[in-house]
Amino acid sequence: MQPGIVYLIGAGPGDPGLITVKGLDSLRRADVVVYDYLANPQLLDAARPDAERIYVGKVRGHHHRPQDEINSLLADLALQGKTVARLKGGDPYVFGRGGEEALHLHQAGIPFEVIPGVTASFAAAAYAGIPLTHRDFTTSLGLVTGHEHPDKKMSTLDWEKLATGVGTLVFYMGMANLALIARELIAHGRPSDTPVAVIQWATTPRQRTLVATLADVVEKVAAAKLQPPAIIIVGEVVTLREQLRWFDNRPLFGKRILVTRTAEQAGAFNQLLQEQGAEAISCPVIEIVAPPSWEELDSAIRSLGEIDDLILTSANAVDAFFSRLKSTGRDLRALAGITLVAVGPKTAAALAERGLSADLIPTDYRAEGVVKLLIERGVAGRRILYPKAELARDLIPRQLAEAGAEVLAPLAYCTVVPTHGGEEIRRRLSAKEIDTVTFTSSSTVENFIAMVGADAAELLQGVTICSIGPLTSATAQKHGLVVDVEPAASTLEAMVEAMVEYFK
Ligand code: SAH
Repeated sequence: MQPGIVYLIGAGPGDPGLITVKGLDSLRRADVVVYDYLANPQLLDAARPDAERIYVGKVRGHHHRPQDEINSLLADLALQGKTVARLKGGDPYVFGRGGEEALHLHQAGIPFEVIPGVTASFAAAAYAGIPLTHRDFTTSLGLVTGHEHPDKKMSTLDWEKLATGVGTLVFYMGMANLALIARELIAHGRPSDTPVAVIQWATTPRQRTLVATLADVVEKVAAAKLQPPAIIIVGEVVTLREQLRWFDNRPLFGKRILVTRTAEQAGAFNQLLQEQGAEAISCPVIEIVAPPSWEELDSAIRSLGEIDDLILTSANAVDAFFSRLKSTGRDLRALAGITLVAVGPKTAAALAERGLSADLIPTDYRAEGVVKLLIERGVAGRRILYPKAELARDLIPRQLAEAGAEVLAPLAYCTVVPTHGGEEIRRRLSAKEIDTVTFTSSSTVENFIAMVGADAAELLQGVTICSIGPLTSATAQKHGLVVDVEPAASTLEAMVEAMVEYFK
């Protein structure tokens, strides 16, 4: 059999967005992914669902698998004809033992490619606001291991040349030897007031950065309890951080925010939160499922020719409506002449994705707003189609009918409480791993309680609760939850703004 190929891929330092396009592409094609402790496990989602995933991670002092075994594993997999993605933290050839893996593959006659990655020091510097070189401060940069091969002594480093011959110095794996590093640099001629930055878990929501001098860095790191993995940057460039930091001073940085929306809807909200620096943790408490029968909606679609207005009150309703439109053998032309009413910008955006512009959007993005807007325009005698969710309030059909419209309200989708996930939320809440819980509808509250259990209010002690608006807040209060943040406008953007304001 022809051997497969091994891609030695630099996964980048943590932020999954920092893998290269080429690395991601190879990862997507792999039959098997062999990954490390420092490669962000989120990247595994990019691999094919049927790809085998093998963890060979190493935590310092707990070598999960010896390097020889990893080398043989890569060769064996390739010899089975497989395409192997070897995902390594940072760059494969910077203190990553990628060289050893490549040499082994070369000796075994196995084809391989090396895809560079963003190495931890470059990434840590960028995310901490420290240019590794700057014309006014230094003209050279040294990357140094603070933890040499176990059978060598630290003394094989030429401290004198390092201390005085190189501008910016960056140490990898240096935390255990921090005292020795600082002492040797001072002893060999670096001024003891040279600035030092220690950056832990760079580029991730757990990033912590400490600035000190060679003289007091050991003491300060101990006091702040900084742990590996960390990058140590020594040099005058560290002082630029004061002006150039941008990552860890965003308003919601370090906040772990639980998003309870459906998996389909969480993306946009997560992104808004992440842009403000928060860590968005998706735990959907709502799952969208098809109604028991499509008959009602299909029959309404068959009579589209007689409909004047179509009201859509969520992106889910848009999805369901258009999937049935297609299933019944129709396309967008069936909507010609119908006034499209979207409850708000998100629903309008879902229409726009299908090439349609909403004719009407109320200023109040709720059922109340839709009813008010339509009644102002006059609804007497109009035939209105409103594909609804199972649990929707009957406000729209009732009030429009009272105002003289003929309203069809077929069931378009149902929502259920997911069977999995409750335990995980409980665990995270008990471990104090959640700072804020967000509720974006009354059903997110109801389902959250159903999933987490009757003692939810107790588990939420000390957790900030953010609700999208008055109805959701009322439901929360009914269950004994205290709402801390509620925006004036019921939108996700306003929710994020209100949280930023709250945490100021
Ligand atoms: N090949 C990797 C380095 C592996 S050696 C690369 O190019 O980045 C492991 C060391 O890398 C750690 O001890 C730490 O010093 C550094 N490191 C890796 N990821 C890091 C991160 N997210 N934050 C800080 N340091 C990190």
